[in-house]
Amino acid sequence: MNIQENITLGTLSTFKIGGKAKYVIFAESNDDIISALRFAQEKSLPVGIIGAGCNLLISDDDINGLVIKMNTRNIDVNHTHLFAEAGVSLAALTAFGHKNNLTGLEWAPSVPSSVGGAIRGNAGAFGGETKDRLKQVRVYRNGQIIDVDATDIGFHYRYSGFKAENNKDIILGGLFELEFGDVAEGQKQVRDNIVRKNQNQPVGVACSGCIFKNYEGTINSSLIDKFPELENFIAKGIIPSGYLIEKSGLKGMSSGNIRVSDKHANYMVNTGDGKFEDVINLIQIVKDKVLQEFGVNIEEEVVYLHKQMKII
Ligand SMILES: Cc1cc2nc3c(=O)[nH]c(=O)nc-3n(C[C@H](O)[C@H](O)[C@H](O)COP(=O)(O)OP(=O)(O)OC[C@H]3O[C@@H](n4cnc5c(N)ncnc54)[C@H](O)[C@@H]3O)c2cc1C
Repeated sequence: MNIQENITLGTLSTFKIGGKAKYVIFAESNDDIISALRFAQEKSLPVGIIGAGCNLLISDDDINGLVIKMNTRNIDVNHTHLFAEAGVSLAALTAFGHKNNLTGLEWAPSVPSSVGGAIRGNAGAFGGETKDRLKQVRVYRNGQIIDVDATDIGFHYRYSGFKAENNKDIILGGLFELEFGDVAEGQKQVRDNIVRKNQNQPVGVACSGCIFKNYEGTINSSLIDKFPELENFIAKGIIPSGYLIEKSGLKGMSSGNIRVSDKHANYMVNTGDGKFEDVINLIQIVKDKVLQEFGVNIEEEVVYLHKQMKII
């Protein structure tokens, strides 16, 4: 087990923000993970998990705890089933499927994510969601490794039971069922999806995915006169926060070196050495303005690593 000290977490997040953690392990096996957890238990340290670091907001303050960076990368195939360890990227999983003539995850490479992070947040794009092909999740729970049926995980839109406040499971891997299909066509779909995705999201800049959850509550229907698109969103029961932020006139708004993306208003980009406090400040500006314009409270989707760290 190779536990390293005083590692800057900003390098492990696509937002490129974050101070040092007292201990970090780059876990390459389940044994690494379990040994690291024992180490944390002995020292009564809170533990945080980083997958691909694509949906994280990390404080600039140093963290006195242990961070496990999931670098487990094995994938096994058995007929139409793929078992992928938590650190495998969705892109690698989909490509591995294609190598074995298996299709069904063509949406997935457009989402930067590890398998563990995707399962936790039920990541998705272009109508596909992680839960769709997932059969079982292998977790470390209460000192044991167990397999949980996907139907028992309480998935819904960008949510799983792993997000519950008291959940301490560590996702070790997922079993996906794909199907034999036309791989050339699958690869074309992957390329097309990536092109489409890049048209609507920041590319080549430090950012952290959608900052806010889409809004699922009620909204004053008299706003439809001014914002006609709302009618369609209200009918679907979900209003994109990007729409609310854009219509509040916030595209391009900035705090320090953090800026609401001009391309997609639910993204914030770090234009260079942005600080955690700048993000917090901008999040508050956005929340206040959306409340003022639309009378609704939007909430963060992005995960605050330090708030989530727990003694396991
Ligand atoms: C440019 C860009 C575009 C994006 N587009 C999309 C999109 O289209 N659709 C979408 O759904 N998301 C999108 N996202 C958000 C992000 O890709 C997803 O939320 C992704 O699933 C996060 O996975 P991760 O491995 O990066 O998790 P991380 O960001 O590393 O962690 C997220 C959370 O999961 C927890 N976690 C990670 N691994 C484990 C594990 N093994 N066990 C337990 N907990 C774990 C972490 O502790 C943290 O709470 C985008 C992000 C970026 C930067």
